[in-house]
Amino acid sequence: MPQCLFCKIIRGEIPTNKVYEDEKTFAFLDINPVNPGHTLVVPKKHAVDIFEMEEEEWNAVMNSVHKISHALEKSIGPTGINLAMNNRSGAGQLVFHAHVHIMPRFPNDGHELWKGKPYRKGEAARVAEKIRTNL
Ligand code: AMP
Repeated sequence: MPQCLFCKIIRGEIPTNKVYEDEKTFAFLDINPVNPGHTLVVPKKHAVDIFEMEEEEWNAVMNSVHKISHALEKSIGPTGINLAMNNRSGAGQLVFHAHVHIMPRFPNDGHELWKGKPYRKGEAARVAEKIRTNL
C-alpha cells in the first residue's frame, strides 16, 4: 500500500528504530511510548486490522510478539508487559495497518487497566453460546 505509514516504515522510506524483522513481520519502537521499549509488531503484508489478516500472517506476528516480549523482559526489566491491539476506529485504531502493541510496565507508571463490569443474570451464558455458534 503506497501511502500506508507502516508500509513506508517497512520499506525504509520513513526512519524508525527497528527492533526485529523476519520474512513476514517487522517490529519497531512506538514513536509515542507508554513506557520506553513500547514496541509495535506488524505483518509485512498489508492488512488493515485483525479481520483482514490471514491466519499465517497472524501466527507469524504472534511468534514475533513472543520473541520480542522475552527480549524486552531481559533488556528493559519491566515488572510486567501488556499486549494490545486496536482494531477499527471504534476500538481506538489510528493507524490502519494491523499492529500489536507490546508495552513494558513499571511500578507507578501512571497507567491503568480497563475496569470490568459484571454480567446481568443469565447474560454470560447467552453471550458465550452466541460466540460458540460463530466459530
Ligand atoms: P493505534 O492505531 O491506536 O494502535 O495507534 C497507533 C500507534 O502508532 C500509536 O501508539 C502511535 O504512537 C504509533 N505511531 C504513529 N506513527 C508512528 C511512527 N511513525 N513510528 C512509530 N510509531 C508510530
